[in-house]
Amino acid sequence: MSRGGTLRRVVLSCDVAGCPVQLEPPPTEAWRNDADARSWARDHAVGWTSDPVRQTDYCPEHGRFSTAPAGDVVPPRPTAAARDRAGNPLDREEYADLLRARLADGDRSTDRTLMLTAAEAAVAARLLDELAGVYRGEGLGLLAREVSALLDGRLGGRG
Ligand SMILES: [Zn+2]
Repeated sequence: MSRGGTLRRVVLSCDVAGCPVQLEPPPTEAWRNDADARSWARDHAVGWTSDPVRQTDYCPEHGRFSTAPAGDVVPPRPTAAARDRAGNPLDREEYADLLRARLADGDRSTDRTLMLTAAEAAVAARLLDELAGVYRGEGLGLLAREVSALLDGRLGGRG
């Protein structure tokens, strides 16, 4: 159909120099965009590991490389929506810590409790799952996953 009928296929390839191992998601997943497809492939690649900081992947044989020190260069991780008072994005790890502290404070105090309908809570949990998928391997993603599980727990199972 488009461009000579060739769908772009996102492959997961081992990032160890000279290693030829690659993985292709099945054609049924070809509708995903690049980032999403890669994320999906990582989730379904048995034995593969990835380094979220360096955005690299390793085949089962080279999995140990994903735990190697990343070096001095850590790319900036600005928040997409959250801003400080001056209007600047925040560091996502710091923001995750901030939110986590706020959650803990709310638990300690007799915080006002908001009621959500089951559908609202379920949708919020699913949105958090998406967020966790985008920020996989980061503090923000972990927090999103935890709060999603918290909401699901209140619902008495996955909705
Ligand atoms: Zn490899």
